[in-house]
Amino acid sequence: MLNFLRMRILILFIALTTLNVLARPIGNEDINRMQFNHEHRSGYKKSAKSKKLPAKYEDMQYKKPTFKVWHLPYLEWEQNYRSYFKKYYGDTNLKLNPSMIVMHYTVIPTVEGTYRALSRNEVSVQLMVGPDGTIYELMPLNRRCTGAYGVNHVALSIEMVASTESDLLSRSKQVFASFCLVKYLMAKYDIPLSKIVAHYEVSEGKKRVPEYTDLYDKVYPDRYPPSSARLDPGPTYMNWLRSYLKENPPSREDL
Ligand SMILES: [Zn+2]
Repeated sequence: MLNFLRMRILILFIALTTLNVLARPIGNEDINRMQFNHEHRSGYKKSAKSKKLPAKYEDMQYKKPTFKVWHLPYLEWEQNYRSYFKKYYGDTNLKLNPSMIVMHYTVIPTVEGTYRALSRNEVSVQLMVGPDGTIYELMPLNRRCTGAYGVNHVALSIEMVASTESDLLSRSKQVFASFCLVKYLMAKYDIPLSKIVAHYEVSEGKKRVPEYTDLYDKVYPDRYPPSSARLDPGPTYMNWLRSYLKENPPSREDL
């Protein structure tokens, strides 16, 4: 009986907590919490892979990406997003004209799990690359997302579904799909290689990414607080991506 009562109280507590989370507008902490918690809980390991782009990628043929549309319920979040952009970036505009691309991995190992987590937390990115290389459009590319705190007013965010950097690098189909996707987007929006950045570079703030903007945080206006520093998608992945893009620069023919 006592256990039963405890269970009821626990359920009520969880329900109230959930309601409270849903009722208040999202902020810095909410945006960062999910990924950060997972990253630090799952025992992030440094990648054992060589920083040099493996030769097999040089033999792979660029393929223009196709998008599987699987939109998050972003229209329902419009009011929250307008207040979020007003608070951190100074305007309520939700339109995006991308001049930067931020790379991430999800830490959550499945596309379904990632989709659910993003929906639940009202966190968004425009694009997600699945473990098999499928590219999902989670939001229109001309709409601002909340995936990379500090640069969401200018950046497209790409999530790669993987639990760690090593996990990601072990799947060449997925890695190569992400290379093709970035090459395509660079050509489409005329984005230079210098504006292809990792989430961990964004977390270093203005000194690394001059576009970094945070009008709200008075303690850390120029970078993420140390407790929120990011690791995704890892330095080896970024080295490989940049090597590939240097050797295969984007062109109009990619479109
Ligand atoms: Zn990230």
